[in-house]
Amino acid sequence: MKYPQSLKNKQNPKKILIICSDSRESETKYTDWKFKPGKIFVIRNAGNCALFDDALACIHYALLHLKIKTLEIGGHYNCGMMKALLEKNHNDQYISSAVKFIKKNIFNNQLPSKDENQLAKENIHRQIEILLKKDKLVKKLVSRNNLQVIGSYFDFNLKATKISLINKNGKVLIK
Ligand SMILES: [Zn+2]
Repeated sequence: MKYPQSLKNKQNPKKILIICSDSRESETKYTDWKFKPGKIFVIRNAGNCALFDDALACIHYALLHLKIKTLEIGGHYNCGMMKALLEKNHNDQYISSAVKFIKKNIFNNQLPSKDENQLAKENIHRQIEILLKKDKLVKKLVSRNNLQVIGSYFDFNLKATKISLINKNGKVLIK
C-alpha cells in the first residue's frame, strides 16, 4: 500500500479514539477493518481510561492543536481490566496502581456491578460524565458545540461483532 503523500507533514484526523490495549480490539474496526492512516487519533491503555494523565495529555493536544471535534471512548466485551477491578489482590505494583486509580477516580471506590461486561459499559458512562463535569477544556468545547463526546461498546461475543453507541454527550443510550 502506498502511504498517502498528503499526510507527510500534517495530520487532520476526525476522531480521538480511546480504546483498551486488548489485542482483540483494533482501531481499524472503526474504519471497516481497513488500515487507513490519518483518520483516527488513537489512545490505547488498559481499560480504555481517558482519565490517566498521559491520556489526558493526548486528548488535550488533539483538541487544542488538531481541533478534533469527536472524542470517542470505547469499551469492550471480556475486558481484563474490568476483571482486575473485580478481583481482590494484585501482585504487581503497576496493575495495582492502575486498578486503584480507576476504582477511586471513576467509580468513587464503589463498583456499580459485579458483572465485568456491565462494568465495562459503566466505565464508559462514568468517564464521560466526569470529563463533561471536571475537564474544563472538554466542558467548554461541548458547551460551544465544538465537541461531541461519545461512548461505544465493542461486543465480540456475537456471531457478527458489533460496536454499539452507548452514550452521547453524557446521555446514556444503552445502560
Ligand atoms: Zn480491555
